[in-house]
Amino acid sequence: MIKKINHIGIAVAALEEQIPFYRDILCLEELGTEEVPDQKVRVAMFKVGAINIELLEPTSDDSPIAKFIAKRGNGIHHIAYESDGIVQEIHSFEDKGVQMLDKVPREGAHGSLIAFLHPKSSGKILTELCQVKEG
Ligand code: ZN
Repeated sequence: MIKKINHIGIAVAALEEQIPFYRDILCLEELGTEEVPDQKVRVAMFKVGAINIELLEPTSDDSPIAKFIAKRGNGIHHIAYESDGIVQEIHSFEDKGVQMLDKVPREGAHGSLIAFLHPKSSGKILTELCQVKEG
């Protein structure tokens, strides 16, 4: 079952240039920065109440985030919905005719499990499902 929006992903060319806005102007709590090699990104997370802002910086020219920025510049990249059972969620979506980019969940930031829907199936809004690691 989907519980809430977990985070909003924002593509940025350079974390160092964008982090001060979230940290020093909005004064959001910084949850840390980590590299997610699988997605060829560096991720900085900020907490806003129950929702996080996920800044995504490409670590390679063939990163999906690099392609996004080349086409559109910095901007909102995806919305991530948190589920308490990502595998069941994927099956249920597929039963409803949704095309999944990830039919099997893969590892996201902070040990979470994530799966992306094909934008064709979500009104062109890139949509992520995620399940956070317990504890
Ligand atoms: Zn995300």
